[in-house]
Amino acid sequence: MDSVDFRSDTVTWPTPKMREAMAKAQVGDDVYGEDPTVKALEQLAADKLGKAAGLFVASGTQGNLIAALTHTNRGDEIIMGCDAHTFCWEAGGAAVLGGVTPLPLPTDSLGRMNLAQIEASIRGDDPHWPHSRLITVENSSGGNNGAAIPANYFAAIRQLSDRHQLRVHLDGARLFNAATALSVEAKEIAQHVDSASICLSKGLCAPVGSVLVGDRSFIHQARRYRKLLGGGMRQAGVLAAAGLIALETMSQRLGEDHLKAQRLAQGIATVSGLVIDPSVVQTNMVFFTLADTVPLTAQELVNKVWQTAEIKLGTYGDRKLRAVTHYWIQPDHVDALVNTLKAVLK
Ligand SMILES: *Cc1c(COP(=O)(O)O)cnc(C)c1O
Repeated sequence: MDSVDFRSDTVTWPTPKMREAMAKAQVGDDVYGEDPTVKALEQLAADKLGKAAGLFVASGTQGNLIAALTHTNRGDEIIMGCDAHTFCWEAGGAAVLGGVTPLPLPTDSLGRMNLAQIEASIRGDDPHWPHSRLITVENSSGGNNGAAIPANYFAAIRQLSDRHQLRVHLDGARLFNAATALSVEAKEIAQHVDSASICLSKGLCAPVGSVLVGDRSFIHQARRYRKLLGGGMRQAGVLAAAGLIALETMSQRLGEDHLKAQRLAQGIATVSGLVIDPSVVQTNMVFFTLADTVPLTAQELVNKVWQTAEIKLGTYGDRKLRAVTHYWIQPDHVDALVNTLKAVLK
């Protein structure tokens, strides 16, 4: 990459190996079901998550939307965390296109909804009420410092949803980060849900795409919704070729990103004017805030860091900032950021 960019792991460029595989990829018309590279990617994603089938989609947002449309009918309700990506950052797609309302519930510091509160929110059969149909969960939890939620929470969600005949979808945009942090296979988490979507284009470095997985009949219906949304892609094997490398090899190296995030959090803790608790950093996200005494806004600090060292950072509101580590961030970039923050805030 040609700049040091901590704003997100979505900024990652494809690796040289990916570009090579993309150039050589076997392709076909995937809407006809004839692209061998896409098929291989869908099967690999399904295998990794312990599901029968997969569907290559344009983005994480599209994967979550297709899952919502496939699991629900108009007038249904989806229970989700109030800080979940599906609630906050996906343009209300399920409501706009599916006639489905979200029911946002509070979450704890790891992004978990309270089980008793979920149970209390499930609705009976009354003409005043929407039908409770789906629970959407997220791991890692982007709205909670990228926290990794252990598999036992999903087991409990499964039990609860079985008691009430609800479906469960996992927004696993960064599921491999969570699995890495927890030292488990991704399927140990995904075994408890009906469907899951994973992003190939974040820490896994593919240029484009996500995969939605589930059982065969779910994916069969999901394929129809993908078409309906304009997401049926033709010679998508050029993209899937990078996705295969993302799943095969890039999913195995995320621990390095987590170490860099830990190094960054420890460094930021030594910068006067910044507030952080490094112990909450479990994956590749580092959130920190400006101390009340600092006469700058988060955006002003971002601008100064850019002017001083050409390093990019993200803001979350007036006083909060985010730095995300990824493949293209080197340990000395981490040190350069900490030193720049020290210099700018001196
Ligand atoms: C990035 C992200 C998505 C959606 O991904 P896009 O590919 O940007 O649409 C969904 N959920 C979570 C938790 C994410 O971080």
